[in-house]
Amino acid sequence: MMRAPGGPRLLLRRLREVMAEPVIAQARLDRIVVLIASNMVAEVCSLYVVRADGAMELFATEGLNREAVHLTTMRPGEGLVGLIASSAEPLALSDAQHHPSFSYRPETGEEIYQSFLGVPVLRGGATIGVLVVQNRARRAYSEEEIEALQTTAMLLAEMIASGELQGIASQGAPIAVRRQLSLKGLGIADGLGLGHVVMHQPRVTVSTIVADDVESELTRLETAISAMRASVDSLIDRSDDGVSGEHRDVLEAFRMIAHDRGWLRRLREAVSSGLTAEAAVERVHNDARAKLQRQTDPYLRDRLHDLTDIANRLLHQLAGQSLVLLPEELPENAILVARSMSPAALLDYDRARLRGLVLEEAGASSHIAIVARALAIPAVSDIANISEIVEQGDAIIVDGDAGEIYLRPPADVEAAYAEKARMRARRQAQYRALRDAPTVSLDGVSIGLHMNAGLLVDMPHLAETGAESIGLFRTELQFMLASRFPRPGAQQQLYRAILDAAGDRPVTFRTLDIGGDKLLPYMKGLEEENPALGWRALRIGLDRPALLRMQFRAFIRAAAGRDLKIMAPMVSTVDEFRTARAMFDRELNWSQSRGHEPPRTTSLGVMVEVPSLLWQLDEIATAADFLSVGSNDLMQYLYAVDRDNRRVANRFDPLSVGFLRALRSIADAGERHGTPVTLCGEIGGRTLEAMTLMAIGYRELSMSAPSIGPVKAMTLTLNVGEARREVEPMLAKGRENASLREPLQQLAERLGVRL
Ligand code: PEP
Ligand code: MG
Repeated sequence: MMRAPGGPRLLLRRLREVMAEPVIAQARLDRIVVLIASNMVAEVCSLYVVRADGAMELFATEGLNREAVHLTTMRPGEGLVGLIASSAEPLALSDAQHHPSFSYRPETGEEIYQSFLGVPVLRGGATIGVLVVQNRARRAYSEEEIEALQTTAMLLAEMIASGELQGIASQGAPIAVRRQLSLKGLGIADGLGLGHVVMHQPRVTVSTIVADDVESELTRLETAISAMRASVDSLIDRSDDGVSGEHRDVLEAFRMIAHDRGWLRRLREAVSSGLTAEAAVERVHNDARAKLQRQTDPYLRDRLHDLTDIANRLLHQLAGQSLVLLPEELPENAILVARSMSPAALLDYDRARLRGLVLEEAGASSHIAIVARALAIPAVSDIANISEIVEQGDAIIVDGDAGEIYLRPPADVEAAYAEKARMRARRQAQYRALRDAPTVSLDGVSIGLHMNAGLLVDMPHLAETGAESIGLFRTELQFMLASRFPRPGAQQQLYRAILDAAGDRPVTFRTLDIGGDKLLPYMKGLEEENPALGWRALRIGLDRPALLRMQFRAFIRAAAGRDLKIMAPMVSTVDEFRTARAMFDRELNWSQSRGHEPPRTTSLGVMVEVPSLLWQLDEIATAADFLSVGSNDLMQYLYAVDRDNRRVANRFDPLSVGFLRALRSIADAGERHGTPVTLCGEIGGRTLEAMTLMAIGYRELSMSAPSIGPVKAMTLTLNVGEARREVEPMLAKGRENASLREPLQQLAERLGVRL
């Protein structure tokens, strides 16, 4: 049995010294491989670095022909080196040349070496290099030697990840860790952002790998594990109080891992082998990741996420660093990158410094997406593994419109996006210039443009956009962001703050629209087979009158002395609305009888979003003070397409004969009865759709803040009467493929409407 001179501890100390020397990258690498070879008593030591194209390039060698450096490359999966890269596991062979994967490269002169030991250089779950030692004689490498080489590879990972080696790569071919990446995800908040990566949970860099004193290192590990367990427990307790933003089941999974015996045993073993507690966490995690990453079972892959999170928590505990970046540490032009993030955490950051947000997991209707949109932060989610791929400070572009990100973009892409962002800013400036202009069409038709909101942070947009009112305030967002049912006081406080922020402009509050896709984590028993057709919105309010009454009371108190407008979602029959109105009246009387100042005026409306109302329009237009069309749901129910199911959501076009006829009938009913009609679904915010809505009789549209400028600019170039004359026959005639998008687009062009 050969003994390494000085052992791994000495080797790592020497390597650290070499890494700190002020020499060029190649000279440093050359010294490193000599040191490793001599310490491991091997004739050969070579380092391969994985390039962006997946090939492995020989970057340094002691023992093989020096001429082969930067010349020899192995294709992805080729040879023993390729096998290690793809398996992310060590490989030790006493007779390498007879291994089926062995691939002989004459320029290296490696035919005389029989024994082979290679380990992956790992970073964030990916192989970024392969470190190899070879011996002339046949020999078996011991477990200790394999571990020593793995430990050395951890140190090299830092060097490769620093990007220092990029300058010496063959013909400047990009190496994997610094490669440019264009990744497609899901755009969850519109806009373009250029900046630099700031990790919401920064990784801890493990710099001391070998421990001086195993016993004290074991104690450090145990102390950190206890502290981490306690912090997870306290998060679980706080999740009951509604303080934490994390979901309880995720925290429970953390707790399970934190008490997992196998995991703890592996950590202790790694420390006992001589690693520092930090290096042990990283090593054990790298091994687990290599195994779990090959799993296709989504459950096991989720566990990998949890495992990564808990390892990260433990590392922060050991390093004495706070787990998340402190909001005041945020640099300018920051693009936040996180696996997932609670809305509260996002709200903590200084908005003025944020340029974008990239997440691994968050749906378009998730809470974080809602908050990102309210704050106008471009955001993309569904980018697998992003928090592992990026390095702090990497250049990055977030394209929330296209749902794409560019990591380390080349200069031309960056320039193109910078230009796009400038154009966008110019357009925004034009819209701002229109802010105070009345929204009147070329033929003198006045159009009311209103804003949809749901959070207090939405409110500054009201003045910025010049919207006439809040046409839809989605009260459920407060409930969705909280981790327990908001008390009446909190509801009233929010509604008052909203009315204060709106000043003279009216606010239309919508009663709770929960159920369906909007589940409250703390309201159990709402899971249903077919939630869109289930117990939701007003249906819950009517069955649990205490809930609805509590909300009515909060509205009434908040609006003392002011105008109060409320509308009910998911009304299917006229008598549902009448029941709700009777409840409201009772609440109003009760409040007055107790001496509370009543609202100056009250007005109760109905969302038209369940198709059954289309055949009760005269009755509902008489019963309600106003109607507001929820085109998102109306489209979903009329065409039987789940609005959140990407496979079918865009199967039918809202600009179809059927849907437009339905919409027109609502506007006509409003006109017949003198009942104001607004439309507050997404289509109202799209210019071609808005033009069409005006042509079929809509005069009030409520939309998200960024849409107001474009729709106003469109209206100023539109002759509503002329459009109406052209659209009427299209609707009368129908069309076999149903969508009128193309002819409407041509019409806009012909009429010179700015879309
Ligand atoms: C709608 O359904 O169109 C609507 C405005 O409400 P929500 O999107 O909140 O269901
Ligand atoms: Mg709706």
